[in-house]
Amino acid sequence: MSSIAIIGAGQAGMQLADSLRRGGFEGSVILYGDEGSLPYQRPPLSKQFLLGDLEASRLNFRPIAHYEKLAVTLRLDCAVTQVDLQTRTLAMANGEQAAFDRLAFTTGARVRKLALPGAEDPRVCYLRGITDAQAIRERLATARRVVIIGGGFIGLEVAAVARTLGKEVTVLEAQTRLMPRVVAPVVSAYFEAVHNQRGVRFLLGESLTALAPTSSALGLTTASATYLEADLVVVGIGVHPNLELAAAAGLPCEGGIVVNEFACTRDPTVVAAGDCTWQRNILFERPHRLESVQNAVDQAKVAAASLLEKPVAYSQVPWFWSDQYDVKLQMVGISTGFEAAIVRGNPETGAFSVFYYLGERVLAVDSINRPAEHMAARRLLASGGLLAKELAADPAADLKTIIEKN
Ligand SMILES: Cc1cc2nc3c(=O)[nH]c(=O)nc-3n(C[C@H](O)[C@H](O)[C@H](O)COP(=O)(O)OP(=O)(O)OC[C@H]3O[C@@H](n4cnc5c(N)ncnc54)[C@H](O)[C@@H]3O)c2cc1C
Repeated sequence: MSSIAIIGAGQAGMQLADSLRRGGFEGSVILYGDEGSLPYQRPPLSKQFLLGDLEASRLNFRPIAHYEKLAVTLRLDCAVTQVDLQTRTLAMANGEQAAFDRLAFTTGARVRKLALPGAEDPRVCYLRGITDAQAIRERLATARRVVIIGGGFIGLEVAAVARTLGKEVTVLEAQTRLMPRVVAPVVSAYFEAVHNQRGVRFLLGESLTALAPTSSALGLTTASATYLEADLVVVGIGVHPNLELAAAAGLPCEGGIVVNEFACTRDPTVVAAGDCTWQRNILFERPHRLESVQNAVDQAKVAAASLLEKPVAYSQVPWFWSDQYDVKLQMVGISTGFEAAIVRGNPETGAFSVFYYLGERVLAVDSINRPAEHMAARRLLASGGLLAKELAADPAADLKTIIEKN
């Protein structure tokens, strides 16, 4: 009976194990995770969990009994340190070795750290895992002044929580607008206004140049010589894919572990899924890396199908969400390279969508407090993205019906 080893017990790893069993695989499935907890959801870490509205046990995808029922062996607190694709063995940090027939990398990503003296101070925090979120939550209980480095999704979600808890919040963003890599200026401006109205202070076009920890505070100096003090600094400046293990095993890596549309690496018996992958597929011309729940889940299903030797090409349109206060941003598609951003609805009402066009085709749609429009946009993109700009701009046009007729 063959065995499958899955390295990384996160969103993609858990899904892969599940899909293998659902697909009828009867051999051994071992899920290795270097964290101590059962596989858990990360999105609430910067939302309800940080706010104190959700207990740690509620983060788990499934109780332990689920893995027992599926006969998936969980090796938690167990980092895999080496993979040998010739001998088909892996080594663990505790010195153990294990054999495998087929292998999956679902190693996710780790946070980018500040490269500044003083950044090792425990009041400088990052947010990727549950222990990070617990540390921030504890520090938030006593902090008065919170400075956030990075005006991306994580930074803004943490800003929203800290402000809701009544903290004095300042966000530093190196670019001149928020979430600059992923949204149009109209969406950046909307979120800047939402946070401003709640009392968040932004320093845009500003980067941190020095950190001076003292016993009472962390002193921060920016490139334009602005000085501010914080009791807690939360850094959200992006992630690095965990690709080193795969690279050391001889697998091609670029901006992640290189996989094709079947989630296969160069070795067809080795797959990879989730944040750690650099993927090529039929949806996009250029290879890319996605950091989202949707991608981790859908790519893991594709990876499982490949391991089961029933390959299916990845064809899911990417989608993502972010919650800040009572504002829900839902995004579908990838807007990179867009030529025109058509706004549907009025941002001043707090509910609108933005359609990103390249030529006559919609590349992506961001919906703010418009869940029905987001669902319609998912169908639109799945069916090729053709929608006349006048219809996109006309809030009276019934998108659902138009898209269904297309
Ligand atoms: C705070 C936060 C908020 C988020 N919010 C959203 C959101 O609102 N919407 C959304 O779509 N996405 C969100 N995301 C992103 C989403 O959670 C990730 O895209 C998703 O978790 C990726 O799943 P993954 O399995 O690829 O990686 P992960 O969930 O990171 O899992 C990888 C696991 O592998 C482990 N690992 C790595 N190397 C080894 C090794 N050598 N041996 C053993 N184990 C190893 C890691 O420790 C980790 O547990 C958020 C992420 C964070 C951190």
